[in-house]
Amino acid sequence: MVKCPTCGTELRDGVLMCPICGTKLPVPPPEPPKNTINDSKIFSKTRVISFIIIMLILIIGLWRVFSA
Ligand SMILES: [Zn+2]
Repeated sequence: MVKCPTCGTELRDGVLMCPICGTKLPVPPPEPPKNTINDSKIFSKTRVISFIIIMLILIIGLWRVFSA
């Protein structure tokens, strides 16, 4: 529920104008998309991938040293 700042009438959510006094209601800012969890997941994924690549390079390098 939203209250009209001018007359205090309780208004439904999404109402843009008070039907009693005609006050335009401030539009609430859009909720930021909840990407924080996904971002951290992507971040950890890239970390895992880079870790695997580094391990592969190390293993190939060691394998080359030992097989030479
Ligand atoms: Zn009002």
